[in-house]
Amino acid sequence: MKLIWFRNDLRVRDNKALYNANQSSDGVPIVAVAVLTPVQWLMQDEANSRVQFWLANLRELSQDLASLNIPLKILRASSNNEVPDQLLALANRLNADSLYFNHEYAEYEQRRDDAVQMLFQQHQLRVEGFHSDTIIKPGTVRNKQGQPFKVFTPFSKAWRVRFTDEWPEPLPMPAPQPPCNVQSDPVPDSLVYDAPVQSIWHDHLWPAGSEEAHQRLAIFAETKAADYKLKRDYPALAATSVLSPYLTVGAISSRQCLAGLSANSGDPEWLDNHWTSELIWREFYRHLLVDFPEMNRLLPFKPDVESRLTWSSDDQLFDAWCRGETGFTLVDAGMKQLLATGWMHNRLRMVTASFLTKLLRQDWRKGARFFMQHLIDGDFASNLGGWQWSASVGADATPYFRIFSPMRQAERFDAQGEYVARWIPELASLKGVQRFDPMLGATVGRPLPIIDYAHARSQSLDDYNLAS
Ligand SMILES: Cc1cc2nc3c(=O)[nH]c(=O)nc-3n(C[C@H](O)[C@H](O)[C@H](O)COP(=O)(O)OP(=O)(O)OC[C@H]3O[C@@H](n4cnc5c(N)ncnc54)[C@H](O)[C@@H]3O)c2cc1C
Repeated sequence: MKLIWFRNDLRVRDNKALYNANQSSDGVPIVAVAVLTPVQWLMQDEANSRVQFWLANLRELSQDLASLNIPLKILRASSNNEVPDQLLALANRLNADSLYFNHEYAEYEQRRDDAVQMLFQQHQLRVEGFHSDTIIKPGTVRNKQGQPFKVFTPFSKAWRVRFTDEWPEPLPMPAPQPPCNVQSDPVPDSLVYDAPVQSIWHDHLWPAGSEEAHQRLAIFAETKAADYKLKRDYPALAATSVLSPYLTVGAISSRQCLAGLSANSGDPEWLDNHWTSELIWREFYRHLLVDFPEMNRLLPFKPDVESRLTWSSDDQLFDAWCRGETGFTLVDAGMKQLLATGWMHNRLRMVTASFLTKLLRQDWRKGARFFMQHLIDGDFASNLGGWQWSASVGADATPYFRIFSPMRQAERFDAQGEYVARWIPELASLKGVQRFDPMLGATVGRPLPIIDYAHARSQSLDDYNLAS
């Protein structure tokens, strides 16, 4: 037998580990395995919505695997520490001689995989790792001096050159294997565990499975990709792909996303489409985790800037931000979208993160943690990158003097208050710009602003200026 271990790569097409296990099987049956690790999820602040969505995608995967005659075994370990022994025991039970998986890039996962590899090798079992989560293997995009890029634009240019040279096509679904006599385990319908925050997976918003992800991709590529650059910043419009939850659990791959864009957008310049750049941002943050491992330990990319900043310890301010009750309408609407759905539009992620770090002067780690505990697409690399960018302590971060004004952002991106009224229903009785007026907001039960914007902005500028 050969084992294939599924993690955040829950798909049968364009899955390098599965494809290679199948290609080299010589008639040896493949058995799939997934490990449920509730304590680990808690340690890594994975949102309950994300966990339940992952499970639902695992159920879909189990059916796709069944059509290939590949049984799926489910193991339960509390944390990563127990995973190597559990996998070895399964390999022994099934008389398997090898284990296949796709690499994950955060340090936690790499340490887990190293431990598995060591144990398997001690028992003369083979381990094969593949790079399927990114299009270009992390650690291999280099500048002329052979060094990793620290800035996005030159990284993306070099990345596009590599892409054009290698032109990686998505891999097909492997051929079915002959039926094998191993019984599949049922994937639990849901998993009750001690999540401190019960963020809920709304299955009507995020139906699980690769098929759903591919339908979303096709609709996006055909009807939205052409206007993506123009419309992507307007949160009231459904102008982005909303594929992030599916990419996060691997129900679809970024290679498949680009192939779908190329096939369905009718745009010969699709490689230069702004959407492609966003997928390259996703890659950039994964490459940074590998090239600058200290980032995994929540150290800032620019320690010199952060070491001279003082974060506020005012928990009331943090608490108001978490609840979406700061009195700054756009910020509050973003937080309420997150609380209600487990997802937030990118423009709002930038506005709320800038507000927390630059105006409430709260440590970006607190915000990053809160996001992870609520996001259905919570992804260590992208979340860390986004937060460090917002706090001006990251690689290619926004300059310290760029502080998003919630009022100006609202004027530019939600001028009629359509988005804010959707998430703060009490504003519906007010019209257009009135929705952003704190005094009028107070008349419908909204809180007054918790800080004086002009004062907070000027203090922040002074502090960051000294720190930079
Ligand atoms: C503070 C902060 C925290 C974030 N946390 C996460 C997170 O935990 N998980 C996550 O997937 N994204 C995160 N992002 C990035 C981005 O907000 C989301 O990927 C995006 O909003 C998802 O919506 P979409 O699928 O419609 O994206 P689209 O606009 O359709 O883009 C397509 C895909 O490209 C990738 N992408 C887009 N923008 C970015 C970006 N700035 N950085 C990295 N990848 C990107 C995503 O995989 C996305 O699904 C964060 C951004 C910020 C500023």
